[in-house]
Amino acid sequence: MKEYTINCGDQKITFSLIRKKVKNVNLRVKADSTVVVSANRSVPYIFVEELVRDKAPWIIKNLARIDEKKLLNMERKYITGEIINYLGNNFMLQVFQANHAEKIELNGRIIALFVKNSEDIERKQALIRKWYKEQAKIELGESLERIYPLVESFGIEKPTITIRTMKTRWGSCSWKRGKITINTELLKKSRDCIDYVVLHELAHFKFHKHDADFYGFLSALMPEWQVRRKLLKKETGVDD
Ligand SMILES: [Zn+2]
Repeated sequence: MKEYTINCGDQKITFSLIRKKVKNVNLRVKADSTVVVSANRSVPYIFVEELVRDKAPWIIKNLARIDEKKLLNMERKYITGEIINYLGNNFMLQVFQANHAEKIELNGRIIALFVKNSEDIERKQALIRKWYKEQAKIELGESLERIYPLVESFGIEKPTITIRTMKTRWGSCSWKRGKITINTELLKKSRDCIDYVVLHELAHFKFHKHDADFYGFLSALMPEWQVRRKLLKKETGVDD
């Protein structure tokens, strides 16, 4: 068995190739997120690669589905001591009995969750998600204030920002509607990373594709953008 990684557009696909006595070529996406191709010895590698390329959209769709399942099944109980990623740091969750209103407070590296019924996992999750979304609105608004002045003189209109939980991208830009959409998950990353994604999406108003002009524009405005992008890719595999 040999492992190969190929680039399909801006996605990478890694697959294992097993040579065995099958009729032609079989391709599978397994539940553990591995992509396995079995092929008869007589089938040249280039043919296998061609097949993986043809099937790339299907593979990517299936991998995303598996990720989604994993996220849903992840055992989070929202109890004191659990780690919550926020703005590029690890925060510790502390759960308190709420005597009055249920709320969340930031206290140094502690996220204090006040909830009426501390056994109610769904309620705790809902409170944290709501808080995350509120913080995302604030943080993204502030990021836009920092980054927009860099592009203003290039005739780019100030867009509106929509925040949404997405599975495979940090952000997207719909230049026709003057709108950018940012992944709520980005709040787990540092402000430097958030600023990079905002600039990336703003740059798409001028350069729609990921071509040399686009990257040249990024480099001129944020010379260290590649460092920030690397930090984003770490541990997540989510692309821009
Ligand atoms: Zn892009």
